[in-house]
Amino acid sequence: MLDAIKEEVLRISRLAEESGLCHHGGGNFSMIDRDLNQLAITPHAESRFSFEAKDLIVMDLDGKILENQKNLSPSSETEMHLALLRARPEINAVCHTHARQSSTFAVLNKPVKPVLCEAFMYGGFCRVAPFELPGTKELALSAVKGIEGTQAVLLQKHGLLTIGTNIYEAYLKSVYVEDVAEVCLRAAAIVGYDNVEAFSEEEIDYMMRKLGIVG
Ligand SMILES: [Zn+2]
Repeated sequence: MLDAIKEEVLRISRLAEESGLCHHGGGNFSMIDRDLNQLAITPHAESRFSFEAKDLIVMDLDGKILENQKNLSPSSETEMHLALLRARPEINAVCHTHARQSSTFAVLNKPVKPVLCEAFMYGGFCRVAPFELPGTKELALSAVKGIEGTQAVLLQKHGLLTIGTNIYEAYLKSVYVEDVAEVCLRAAAIVGYDNVEAFSEEEIDYMMRKLGIVG
């Protein structure tokens, strides 16, 4: 079951490791089949190059494990993935990493300002969801609330979270946030964070509508 989804989740999680968004099993990735109401999720702390697609863990939206061929531990942020997939029926995939530039803003507790057009692809400002300990239900709730009305959010003192209609789209949004975060950080180093100019909410709304992107 879910063979194509498993292949795609593994491909993207490997891509995320190769592109430096995460390392050796860091971060976590999931995608759901809405007809079956089953999702494939990466295991906890396992390099994505140490197992095959068939080894991904399959569960239902209540977290009941349905497939786990290698008896691996599910991602420590499974609760967060399930909460997001339950709360946002229009999306099918969740991508969470500790991408460095984005995480710098998560540590500073400041949004990544929309300083480049890439920001239109995920909702403009990438805000910060209040800190909760990793792997807890409280973090899942904070993430769901923090990402309301948008598709990317920072988890305070932790990392980056993006959602999408498929896992590649969710991953790409993480790449975009990371790109914008890097430029925002460099600009802030020169003129100070408060002086970095960003697109206005009106400009963001206009461009997202024009591009057909739903927040
Ligand atoms: Zn994390």
